[in-house]
Amino acid sequence: MTTTDLFASAPEIARPAPAFLPTREEGLRRLRDFLPRAGAAYAAQRNFDDGPGRRNVSVLSPWLRTRLVTEEEVVHAVLARHAFEASEKFVQEVFWRTYWKGHLEMRPALWTSARDRAAALHADLAPDLASRLAAAEEGRTGIDCFDAWAVELNETGFLHNHARMWFASIWIFTLRLPWVLGADFFLRHLIDADAASNTLSWRWVAGLHTKGKHYVARPDNIASYTRGRFSPRDLARDPQPLVQTGDVAAGPLRRAEPVKPGVPSLLLLSEDDLHPESAPMPWADIRLVAGFASPSARSSRPVGTPAAAFAVEAVQGAVHRVASARGLPGEMLPAAIRDAADALVALCAREGVRQVVRGFLPVGWTADAFVALRTALGASGIHVAEILRPWDARAWPHAGRGFFPFKARIPDLCGIAAG
Ligand SMILES: Cc1cc2nc3c(=O)[nH]c(=O)nc-3n(C[C@H](O)[C@H](O)[C@H](O)COP(=O)(O)OP(=O)(O)OC[C@H]3O[C@@H](n4cnc5c(N)ncnc54)[C@H](O)[C@@H]3O)c2cc1C
Repeated sequence: MTTTDLFASAPEIARPAPAFLPTREEGLRRLRDFLPRAGAAYAAQRNFDDGPGRRNVSVLSPWLRTRLVTEEEVVHAVLARHAFEASEKFVQEVFWRTYWKGHLEMRPALWTSARDRAAALHADLAPDLASRLAAAEEGRTGIDCFDAWAVELNETGFLHNHARMWFASIWIFTLRLPWVLGADFFLRHLIDADAASNTLSWRWVAGLHTKGKHYVARPDNIASYTRGRFSPRDLARDPQPLVQTGDVAAGPLRRAEPVKPGVPSLLLLSEDDLHPESAPMPWADIRLVAGFASPSARSSRPVGTPAAAFAVEAVQGAVHRVASARGLPGEMLPAAIRDAADALVALCAREGVRQVVRGFLPVGWTADAFVALRTALGASGIHVAEILRPWDARAWPHAGRGFFPFKARIPDLCGIAAG
């Protein structure tokens, strides 16, 4: 056995969890640290959940989700270090994010219906559901692994992918709680909360994404992949997948509103894309940078402190980074949507700006909140333009169906010749 083989098969020992610092430097530092492990070691070890401080997976999702570090740079860094065949599993996982985003762009109703159903249930919770929901969210169900994951999520804002799958499965099939309330719970607490990855993963576990194919958490699988930390009993053994009435057909992708060249512009940054430096922005026209973060728009219920703080500080930090590098003024808008709309219009008037340019807003709560901002800007005659990244423009059109046909396009999307 060579040293490389030894490295590939050795369990990656969990260390104390480093803080989730919402800066690009921290995302790049984590990427550099993880790169040697992104090949065979990742493929062999990724399904184990050793608890906070885990090193067998990248824990890059908070930075990828906000695009403090982009999918493109992560995939290119990994492919510069490993052959495609060795790092295929990791690269595929990064493309799951891209796939889910494209898939939801074509079916925005999957987001709005889950969001609205969760809000309606929360507004009128029957007493029995309210107490079972509180027990699940606070980790008081008596199912040891589930309770530990609920506490880990509340306290750290993060869960391993396998734990998210087990947790969602137990929520739906053993505790028999509505899946939309589980998805809402995740959105309120995950630092990497993302409308597409979260909503569509919950649907996948429930058996609504691939009809009739649900994910059932098994005690022996949990015991193996937590290396014996948990050994639950009494999980639902043979649950049926959920069924949905009515189908949501794929519609066309929304087109980005083009930039008007030569118009004095404000660059607006939000949670969905915090690295404008790598996007084709009309820099010569940008007069100032503003930031908008509205984590409370994720849900009708309060958002957890780690998740809200990460989102707000990530946007604040990016505004500061971009504005100071370019010698431009930089400002944060208020979090309340009405106030943000007024402040944005006032900023544009103050700086003589006639156009707001922003990264393409994918389906989710920031796009929901932006409707009010767009209306206020429109009423003041200010054009809103958006920049769709070439990465999304190339990949999203292929995300209409299942992941398998999409997966076949990954080498091409990475710029690797087929065969
Ligand atoms: C029920 C459920 C809910 C989820 N909710 C979210 C969410 O709100 N936000 C979110 O970012 N991810 C979500 N995921 C996907 C996944 O669990 C996380 O992206 C992953 O655990 C992040 O850890 P990591 O960075 O160590 O991943 P790694 O294993 O190191 O993977 C590298 C990167 O690939 C991407 N990735 C990996 N697995 C997935 C996946 N299944 N779906 C989409 N992208 C993936 C992430 O960007 C991740 O950072 C959810 C999964 C499930 C089962």
